[in-house]
Amino acid sequence: MPFDAPFPLLVHAERPWMTRRPGECAFPTRGESVGVWSCCSPCGSATYCEPHSVLMRGPRAPSPDAVLRELSRIIG
Ligand SMILES: [Zn+2]
Repeated sequence: MPFDAPFPLLVHAERPWMTRRPGECAFPTRGESVGVWSCCSPCGSATYCEPHSVLMRGPRAPSPDAVLRELSRIIG
């Protein structure tokens, strides 16, 4: 089944994954197997550009202090 990224607006310079150069985002945007395309936006030494890095990390976990504050608020 081909992969299609749900966030095409974040892609600015996509190219076939096999043609990526060092410093270009590896986030897959479409295609499958050897036909996968990547974002290829500049990302320095990171694997993904900043918007795709955020997507790959997912939501940030709350700090232990924030969890304790929320529990205190719920328990009273
Ligand atoms: Zn990217």
